[in-house]
Amino acid sequence: MNRPASLEFRMPADASPLGFRQRPARVLLEIEGLRKHFTRDDAPAAVERVGLTVGEGELIALLGPSGCGKTTTLRMIGGFEIPDAGTITLRGRDITRLPPEARGIGFVFQDYALFPHLDVLANVRFGLRGMTRAEAEARAREMLRLVGLEELAARRPHELSGGQQQRVALARTLAPAPPLVLLDEPFSNLDTAMRVETRQEVRALLKKSGSAAVLVTHDQEEALALADRVAVMAAGRVVQVGTPDEIYRNPANAFVASFLGRSNILAGNADGMDADTALGRLPLSRAANGAVRLAVRPEQIMLEPDPDGPAAVVGREFRGHDQLYWVQEGETCMLVISGPGAEIETGTRVRLRVCDCVVPLS
Ligand code: ADP
Ligand code: MG
Repeated sequence: MNRPASLEFRMPADASPLGFRQRPARVLLEIEGLRKHFTRDDAPAAVERVGLTVGEGELIALLGPSGCGKTTTLRMIGGFEIPDAGTITLRGRDITRLPPEARGIGFVFQDYALFPHLDVLANVRFGLRGMTRAEAEARAREMLRLVGLEELAARRPHELSGGQQQRVALARTLAPAPPLVLLDEPFSNLDTAMRVETRQEVRALLKKSGSAAVLVTHDQEEALALADRVAVMAAGRVVQVGTPDEIYRNPANAFVASFLGRSNILAGNADGMDADTALGRLPLSRAANGAVRLAVRPEQIMLEPDPDGPAAVVGREFRGHDQLYWVQEGETCMLVISGPGAEIETGTRVRLRVCDCVVPLS
């Protein structure tokens, strides 16, 4: 089915980042003006003026579409890439140009990078320096207990499932108790069911260990489910930072509104806390004036079958736990999600009712 035009978005060139004023109580990592340009031509930089603050023990998701600069940002924090401009400060120390091993930051690679010839215990013990062998072994066993794999200590990586391998990789990274752990798409090798289960385990493990984490993902559901705060990236920049609830309810622009879940973008004319739109006069979540674009979540709209209704159902998708409808009213095509119950056939005349505040976009 063709996507209705109202669901398309354009990234405004001067998208103003919201949420930068939020500062965690105890700052662990501070990134300012980070920039990385891989090529010499006039192609845009991979990462441009990225700023971010991570608190002690905080779990941050870097979320954005493929190619937006997430991995490059993470690699600069880890020391695998040196930025062209900007600074990275960890607990007050400038680490921008330090090699990875001098930073004391843990990194969980996408493919886990376990040593195939070492057993699970030796893999976890590997990074522990400055301890006796007995101390390192005790610490490694403690970490395996933490991730629930102590029984598998003598196995080789190829004798483990994907999820188990990932927990070993996490145990190895957490064993030296780093203040910060970096994870790049850590669940991409797992099937869907495993992913949902594993991400809550990983969150719990990170919280138990006390390490802060920056986790890269292109999966908005994963970011919302896992993180204390989410930094949304687009085209090399951070466009919004906030708690999952804040960015879902108050997206800063059309890109964030559409990337985090689905949104209808509706034109309107605002005066204060209300706006006139093709769907009537609607209340706003924050004050605005003049011509505005408004984000309306599909679940904020109710469908009422009505033979005299001004709109018609033009498309439908059955999803089990709910129904997705495309509804045309004049020039406007809206996406609507409704709960299970009476299904409405394509072609039925309906009335649309917006039952919540809508969000003016910048
Ligand atoms: P993401 O992780 O969000 O998918 P990346 O950070 O990997 O994005 O890439 C951002 C941009 O930088 C992309 O356009 C990518 O092609 C480019 N890029 C990444 N690494 C390199 C590299 N080593 N050399 C040249 N270009 C690169
Ligand atoms: Mg990447």
